[in-house]
Amino acid sequence: MARLEGAKDQALSELADLYEQALAEVGENEAAIFEVHQMMLEDEDFLGRIREIITEEKVNAEYAVETTRDEYAALFASMDDAYMQERAADIVDISRRLIQKLTGQRDKFWAEIQAPVIVAARDLLPSDTMQIDKKYLMGIITEVGGETSHSSILARALQIPAVVGIEGLLENLSPGDTVIVDGAGGNVFVNPSVEQKEEWLQKQAEHQERIAKLQKLVGTESVTKDGVRVRLAANIGTPDDLDAVLENDAEGIGLFRTEFLYMFNSTLPSEEVQFQAYKSVLERMKGEPVIIRTLDVGGDKEVPSLNLPQELNPFLGYRAIRVCLDQTDIFKTQLRALLRASVYGKLGIMFPMITSVAEVRQAKELVEEVKSELTSAGIPYSSDVEIGVMIETPAAAMITDQLAKEVDFFSIGTNDLTQYTLAVDRMNPQVAHIYDTHHPAVLRLVQRTIENGHREGIWVGICGEAAADLALTETFIGMGIDELSMNAGSILEVRQKVQAINAAEAKEKLDI
Ligand code: PEP
Ligand code: MG
Repeated sequence: MARLEGAKDQALSELADLYEQALAEVGENEAAIFEVHQMMLEDEDFLGRIREIITEEKVNAEYAVETTRDEYAALFASMDDAYMQERAADIVDISRRLIQKLTGQRDKFWAEIQAPVIVAARDLLPSDTMQIDKKYLMGIITEVGGETSHSSILARALQIPAVVGIEGLLENLSPGDTVIVDGAGGNVFVNPSVEQKEEWLQKQAEHQERIAKLQKLVGTESVTKDGVRVRLAANIGTPDDLDAVLENDAEGIGLFRTEFLYMFNSTLPSEEVQFQAYKSVLERMKGEPVIIRTLDVGGDKEVPSLNLPQELNPFLGYRAIRVCLDQTDIFKTQLRALLRASVYGKLGIMFPMITSVAEVRQAKELVEEVKSELTSAGIPYSSDVEIGVMIETPAAAMITDQLAKEVDFFSIGTNDLTQYTLAVDRMNPQVAHIYDTHHPAVLRLVQRTIENGHREGIWVGICGEAAADLALTETFIGMGIDELSMNAGSILEVRQKVQAINAAEAKEKLDI
């Protein structure tokens, strides 16, 4: 029992160090996992079970930790929720750390890596990714893992090419194999031919050259050859993403997906936590427009603390504004945090998944309610906050003439608009070939939205992935789009494209 206590204390202090290291290297959001591990290590259920096994079975601490690890990992893995399933990896991680401390073993493996490598693993634990010297980590490939596994999140933040979820990976690999990791395309080539190797080295060089060249566009304007301005903004998930936004010279934030603030904790974020997050984004954007979207939970985005029911068709179910108009306490907490933060910059509040005028009116009424509560309490907020809606359902696109009378801007969510228009689940690989943002049905809805918005004198942007699709830039400019909002890494490339387009000609060419 005493050895267990000692090992636990050592592990906790190591986790605190890893947290500080991750905070300095990749940011708060990514470092949070080590805080979670500290909490898990102090969890009385988990520790209590280990102590119980030691006492009752009279076994050593290592054995008790392993048994508890297996029980808890199996429990998490059997849950329906994908996010909770992935937490099994965290149980394995903290147990391994405890056992290392108990046996006095050091995890030498990572420290011994002194040359560039691609790490292939069944699953990679967040602490592995942090322990390896980043200058040697060229790529990550794993059998297990999804988008919400923390290794993926860390790899993305560190800009390390990674491909996860490759079935049978380790059977086809041996140490020392040469591997090409195509993180952008999700491909892995094992022991490539000389020609393949040359081809990909060439691609890598071209990629680096392209990035270097694009840097020259920092500080230039996003204006077409004939002088039409398009605002190129960035999409973010957390305030940590702002470094990349500023490096890539974004002209604002077109979409802050606030649900990420809600996803990684066991409780809902307080008004204060949200206020600090929104304030920091507004301050760092120094008066550039910042569009913050209210909670868009549901669909593929799960928030464990909300305890939403499992549904047969989650994308057609209890989602986004539907949740917020139903659970108004959660919504009003977010609105209060947003309005309080509004004095620190140029804020726009945007509602997701709108299908009717009534929803917009109801949401606006709640905004007014929160405003008058703040006024009564003597808490300041800006009087210039813009209110907008996402146009991401065919229903909303079809009534944009009416919706435009209610709001200050539209932002078209082509990701959902495509899935709902074409009746094709955006997550289902089997029908992925039908998912097509270039489909005339989608593009006509986009065009209609822009026309109806402009008729009422409001601005219209696009914040779905299509905003960064270079094959559509000319079409969107021809339609008169005011803003394109995308991942920060695409901004300079799209700016280059915009500068090469003639807007009048693009309008002439429109044929959908
Ligand atoms: C969209 O649907 O296009 C969008 C931007 O929102 P999300 O991808 O978060 O659903
Ligand atoms: Mg959407």
